[in-house]
Amino acid sequence: MSLKSALAGSNPPLLATTGPGSSSATVAPVLTARGITKELGEGAGRIMAVKGVDISLRPGELTLLMGPSGSGKTTLLSILGCILSPTSGTVEIDGTMTNTLSPEQLARLRRTHIGYIFQSYNLFPTLTALENVRIALDVAGFSSAAGYTRAEQALRVVGLEPKFKSYPANLSGGEKQRVAVARAIASAPSIVLADEPTAALDSENGHGVMKLLSEIARTQNRSILVVTHDPRTLAYADRVIRIEDGLIIGEDRGDHSALHAANSHAAPHSEPDAPPQAANSDDGEPTHGGPPTLIDLSPSGRRSKRRRKGLQKNTGNKKLA
Ligand code: ADP
Ligand code: MG
Repeated sequence: MSLKSALAGSNPPLLATTGPGSSSATVAPVLTARGITKELGEGAGRIMAVKGVDISLRPGELTLLMGPSGSGKTTLLSILGCILSPTSGTVEIDGTMTNTLSPEQLARLRRTHIGYIFQSYNLFPTLTALENVRIALDVAGFSSAAGYTRAEQALRVVGLEPKFKSYPANLSGGEKQRVAVARAIASAPSIVLADEPTAALDSENGHGVMKLLSEIARTQNRSILVVTHDPRTLAYADRVIRIEDGLIIGEDRGDHSALHAANSHAAPHSEPDAPPQAANSDDGEPTHGGPPTLIDLSPSGRRSKRRRKGLQKNTGNKKLA
């Protein structure tokens, strides 16, 4: 099944959304970074990769961070994603100043609030598509049952229902990246960070992944930041921030031309005000038979610390991406 038909076939269709431009600059940011600098390297090779950046990300928006190779995009993304600490400056996520957190608290914040997508997919070769998504949910603290349900939902959202049991070696590049997208959104993080997600993809798959990300931003109200130097991504953006030599040099609104074209061909929306989130049952689990969208980040879906300790999963020695 093509990506387009998978999306159009959803009920409500993922292609039918609240429309481009529905997100507003008045919505409170989910991430605010102020005065970010980062020095890298040692001795004479030490450089200032990020030189004083302010940036904020809002829910429901897909933001592009564009700049040439070596301009500091990956370094900045790693700082915003709390993988790397800045030399100076602060990152605030959902009202929490991350510089005040212990390493354990920071790890928990990453697991619950941020999804990551990489150019090279970073899938476990020995796990199926479903298991690759499921394992990330396991690490994020979801119970086994909730994890499987969410993993299946996330793979349906990205149009990969027929590939649940496929191993990465048997998936195309575009399909592998869609598994990575499913893994990033499965726990319903408020922020998704993607580093050059289209760089390894051909034209059709590059556009497919960008369209998917822009739809997820709007229909799931996620804040998505895509780091790229790929001009194919421009038509899917709400905002375009340009970086050069470690400094932000400008910001534009995206033109959404590809989204306008896609939406004009989308299946009619049966219920214009239908909520983008799947209905939850009382225990926080998604209701079966509901739309194949993701559910809220509900603590009830996560297992308790005590249960988590008792659960075992044979994941080998590999670290999760
Ligand atoms: P981009 O993602 O835009 O290509 P990066 O953030 O990867 O840029 O790198 C920014 C600058 O920092 C580049 O000049 C790069 O060579 C340098 N750099 C990146 N990582 C390191 C490192 N670990 N040590 C020293 N310099 C680094
Ligand atoms: Mg990079």
